Amino acid sequence: MPEYRGVMVHAEVAEGKLAAIATELLGCGRRLADELGEELSAVIAGGGVSGLAREAFAFGADKVYIVDDVLLKDYQTDAHVTVMEKVVRQVMPRILLIGQTSIGRDLAPRLAFRLETTATMDCIELAIDPGSKLLLRTKPVFGGNARAVYTSELNPQIATVRTKAMTPLAPDTSRKGEVVTVEAGLAPSIIRTRILEKVKQEVEGISLEAADVVISGGRGIGSAEGFEQLEELAGLLKGAVGASRPPCDNSWVPDVLQVGLTGKIVAPDLYIAVALSGSSQHMAGCSGCKNIVAINKDPEANIFREARFGVVGDWKKVLPALTAKVRELLAE
Ligand SMILES: Cc1cc2nc3c(=O)[nH]c(=O)nc-3n(C[C@H](O)[C@H](O)[C@H](O)COP(=O)(O)OP(=O)(O)OC[C@H]3O[C@@H](n4cnc5c(N)ncnc54)[C@H](O)[C@@H]3O)c2cc1C
Repeated sequence: MPEYRGVMVHAEVAEGKLAAIATELLGCGRRLADELGEELSAVIAGGGVSGLAREAFAFGADKVYIVDDVLLKDYQTDAHVTVMEKVVRQVMPRILLIGQTSIGRDLAPRLAFRLETTATMDCIELAIDPGSKLLLRTKPVFGGNARAVYTSELNPQIATVRTKAMTPLAPDTSRKGEVVTVEAGLAPSIIRTRILEKVKQEVEGISLEAADVVISGGRGIGSAEGFEQLEELAGLLKGAVGASRPPCDNSWVPDVLQVGLTGKIVAPDLYIAVALSGSSQHMAGCSGCKNIVAINKDPEANIFREARFGVVGDWKKVLPALTAKVRELLAE
């Protein structure tokens, strides 16, 4: 009987290149594949994607399955789930990694259902259990207040991984691998929905999810004008501005800046939380940040339990002083 072997990454494509999440999954997949002593493969499904295999090799893949078909040009559930099912049944990977993105959230559970296995969503750490070789999947639970580790004996072992939770390898363009072309074989009739139009949301500066530094403001900021001061610091640190829910509800900032359970999930190197209390719903969106710095006038605020560094004080005094110091240090 054929065995499930190897680690496979579903490599998303964005604007004609591998998406950042694909390079992150390849970095993590490489480590898991090496621990298992097995192969790392990537599936690139799309329209006009044949040239992307080289990128996947550079980021760590040993083998790339290319499914190039005009019907796969935009992500469309019926087509992409069908194609992924076909490739996975053919290759039988032990582990399948998918991004916790809007595409991955749609794809992973449907694929798991078709393959009669499980998918653990929104993982932030992955490891191999040395004894059983099962994938240990760590994910935040209870609104980010705790972490749980899941395993499943069903193959393939599917996990979706939060953006920025894993680090890509430094690309090595001299790395080579094997390209396998898979025919999509899609009948247009299986596709039940049509994309009529794509509207791209314009983001000024760096997007929240991509930023290495995020400065988030809460209810205590008090106004849209207050957020201009956060923007000033974000500009100096080449970061992005985020917010808790009240500033979005009060239209001080656009809704798209909300971080949390019902907002964006961010994992920058530095998260400066200004005048927000650190509710569990907010922390659900930023618990993966490497360093949290809190500015709050209430020493009992929950955010201080989550923060690496904290300043107790009125943000209207602390933030201008911090901004001036950053400006001074950058000028040196
Ligand atoms: C189903 C559900 C989903 C939700 N999803 C989200 C979500 O995705 N994201 C989210 O953020 N919230 C979410 N919420 C709301 C969440 O429960 C909290 O109400 C919200 O996060 C609180 O925002 P805050 O910390 O800005 O406000 P508050 O909790 O009111 O805290 C304001 C803080 O500012 C401090 N402060 C006030 N003035 C100053 C000053 N001058 N200087 C310094 N500090 C000052 C105060 O000490 C206080 O700690 C959700 C709630 C529900 C029920």
